[in-house]
Amino acid sequence: MSPSRSEAVELAGLQRPDAKREHPARILVVEDEAEIAALIAYQLTREGYRVETALTGTVALDAIHRDVPDLIVLDRMLPGLSGDEVLRSLKSDPATQGVPILFVTAKREQRDRIDGLELGADDYLTKPFSPRELVLRVDAILRRAHGELKPVTGGGRILSAGPLRVDTGAHIVTLDGGEVPLTPTEFRLLRTLMERRGRTQSRRQLLSEAWNVDSGTAGRLHTRTVDMHVRRLRGKLGSAGDWIETVRGFGYRFQQSR
Ligand code: CA
Repeated sequence: MSPSRSEAVELAGLQRPDAKREHPARILVVEDEAEIAALIAYQLTREGYRVETALTGTVALDAIHRDVPDLIVLDRMLPGLSGDEVLRSLKSDPATQGVPILFVTAKREQRDRIDGLELGADDYLTKPFSPRELVLRVDAILRRAHGELKPVTGGGRILSAGPLRVDTGAHIVTLDGGEVPLTPTEFRLLRTLMERRGRTQSRRQLLSEAWNVDSGTAGRLHTRTVDMHVRRLRGKLGSAGDWIETVRGFGYRFQQSR
């Protein structure tokens, strides 16, 4: 069945006249429950995004290969081809592996969340979720993907935690006002962790973000490389290095608060 026949697509096609973006991001929503798909599409359309929906994984993959979207909201529980399989397929294809994915799962177990992130999803959302939460996550993923960070000074923004301040525009890190000399890799590592504060990042995710390599290349690099750089980064940050938490058997997390 073509997704273009679904009611959700018609609904999503109604662009608000005051949509702010001149070139709205294209989002594909993959969800077999038509009502939920329509709700998600409605919410994102209201925010000015262009939305299409697909009710099965197979339809989704066809649509994606025809025209690669800017972001995919992917439900985990799909009949036939599962969300995990769709995700794996997208991540194994160079044409689609860079497309950000917001994974939606009905299961609450931490294990499932980690599985989704391990497979390469950019973020996950647990059902039931509020429309506002969905929109915030989508906005955040697209900002990260396109590097459109809110300008504060020098075209970047300020991330801070305790005595630590990171100016992402000027590429300056200070600790109690004194500059901390970081290598470009250490800087990207710290920035990635702070931007995803409170959320565990796998070594592979950190490799692909902080080392600026695609996930295929990241898979061939040694994850120990990450450990080594985190150790050096912590050393340079002194007591502020404790904000970077080791999540045993998985990766690292920048603490939400201390
Ligand atoms: Ca479903």
